[in-house]
Amino acid sequence: MTIEKFEFKAEVKELLNLVINSLYSNKDIFLRELISNASDAIDKARYLSLTNQVKLSSNDFKIKIIPDKDKKTLTISDNGIGMSKDDLINNIGTIAKSGTKEFMEMVKKVKETGDLNLVGQFGVGFYSAFMVAEKIDVVTKKAGENSAYKWTSKADGNYEIEETARDANGTDIILYLKNDAEEYLDEWKIKSIVKKYSDYIEYPIVMDVEKDKKIEEETLNSRKAIWMKDKSDIKDEEYKEFYKHISHDFNDPLDYIHFKAEGTLEFTALLYIPSKKPFDIYYKDYKMGPSLYVKKVQIMDACEELIEPYLRFVKGVVESNDLPLNVSREMLQNNRVVTQIKNNITKKVLSKLEELKKNNFEKYEKFYSEFGNILKEGIHFDFSRKEEIAELLIFNSLKNQDKKIDFNIYIENMPENQKEIYYITGESVDEIKISPHLEYFKENNIDVIFLTDEIDGIIMNSLMEFKKKKVKSILKGDIEIDENLKKEKETKEKEYKGLLEKIKEDLKDYVKDVKAGVRLKNSLCCLVGDENEMDETMKRILESMGQTAFDSKKILEINLEHPVMKKVKSLYEVDPKSTKVNEYSKLIYDLALIMDGEKPVDPVNFATKISEFMEKNI
Ligand code: ADP
Repeated sequence: MTIEKFEFKAEVKELLNLVINSLYSNKDIFLRELISNASDAIDKARYLSLTNQVKLSSNDFKIKIIPDKDKKTLTISDNGIGMSKDDLINNIGTIAKSGTKEFMEMVKKVKETGDLNLVGQFGVGFYSAFMVAEKIDVVTKKAGENSAYKWTSKADGNYEIEETARDANGTDIILYLKNDAEEYLDEWKIKSIVKKYSDYIEYPIVMDVEKDKKIEEETLNSRKAIWMKDKSDIKDEEYKEFYKHISHDFNDPLDYIHFKAEGTLEFTALLYIPSKKPFDIYYKDYKMGPSLYVKKVQIMDACEELIEPYLRFVKGVVESNDLPLNVSREMLQNNRVVTQIKNNITKKVLSKLEELKKNNFEKYEKFYSEFGNILKEGIHFDFSRKEEIAELLIFNSLKNQDKKIDFNIYIENMPENQKEIYYITGESVDEIKISPHLEYFKENNIDVIFLTDEIDGIIMNSLMEFKKKKVKSILKGDIEIDENLKKEKETKEKEYKGLLEKIKEDLKDYVKDVKAGVRLKNSLCCLVGDENEMDETMKRILESMGQTAFDSKKILEINLEHPVMKKVKSLYEVDPKSTKVNEYSKLIYDLALIMDGEKPVDPVNFATKISEFMEKNI
């Protein structure tokens, strides 16, 4: 028989080294991971068999644990779907996501911190067995195929595959235990780990034990699908372990929701909010949605039809008996029951978040920092619930730079004459808080919401109003709060008409208009958008989709009360065609750009001019 030799990819080698040399305190979890894989493999086999897609050797599904004290091996054996030679190479010899930037970053972080919790979500559960084994054999036969294969590795960078014999479909994972891991041969140790981490597994996890000098097969787990149990019978630990099983996340979930819907629509759901963002949540092939069970059979492991995309961070299980077993993707898409379940789930998740926000704000902030920007998408996409989702937004503001508030708190603190909700967008609180646009608001003690996510502009455009109050960007157009401001602007613009026109002519290639900046106090100038101008992020998105030719010119507002402008005005009055005024126009525009975090039009010219001024002043 020929043995084929393979080499692990560099990233897998690195990961294996991490796992083997880690001081991971909880080695027990390797068994949870292997049992979890075995259970997934049986799920697949059972579903394919029920839908007549494959014929199995046996329908008496089980996972068998076989400790062998003489050989010092621990075997985890299942009669699930099994693996072909290609499956072995692609699923065990490779880590699907190992080429990604996130994977590299994870490896780096684990190296720095030694925190193996970050590893789990990359689908590397199998490798955790190398914490306790110096060598692993995988003997497997795929349902419906004739050949069986043995995969072997000592985690030394290589693995081998050879053809072998195995009667039935399924997989044996044979661990050659390290000297310091022989405790895993102990019956009591195995029993207690199974009870602790894998009790909810639906299939019997069995082991031969000696009773009255006879060998008997004992089932170690209670097998009750956790979501079908009564809430009062489930310990917090069990909820957490089940989450780790379905999510492949090594971290505890942030929270969970367990409910049964009864009445016309009957289903049970156990849903989790993770504590950390899955690394692939922004990927196209991210698998979203809970797994779907019908009459105790897993039909789909990620049913996207059951979740709103803006809640795609939610993991869990939904079981319904109102759907047929042979339900297909196409059927799910237009199914009334599915739509109702989805609506129900959305309601439950949103009210869970509301409750968290109200009763455990610290925890909610954690949630929000991981998933807030995904949740927000709902304001744009789910019109009927946009106000409800807006209730869940939290942010800093001019008056709350160290703590987060929401729209309701903002509104409660509005002065009576304030009719609109003001916000400003930018890259960070630090960048926003020094913006010249805030000068008027600081002076008049009016709060402004700080928004720092890239999509916030789009989201606010979609929201339009909250509790009948217009939501308004202070970077665009006029604000309604002060009628006098409008009048002042008109008067000023009349008084400075000639000069403003001259500056506009000087800057015609760069700006749409030049106006009196009556909201500016200390700053000389700033750039603003048109009242109805499209959001900058939106422009970029549309441009990236091939739509071009957006007028990206802004309006330049100048503080005409500023001492500089008095001088410019006198220059202009002496000679309306003065080249000096032209130079000032350009400098004013450059300053406005710089304050927006941009580069001056001509940095060399700008530097030369500034040096001249500096020289004159000394
Ligand atoms: P994950 O289970 O998170 O995908 P693992 O490293 O634990 O990552 O397993 C990798 C893959 O190997 C699984 O997704 C599955 O395709 C395959 N696999 C592992 N164990 C078994 C098994 N007992 N039977 C069939 N396939 C398995």
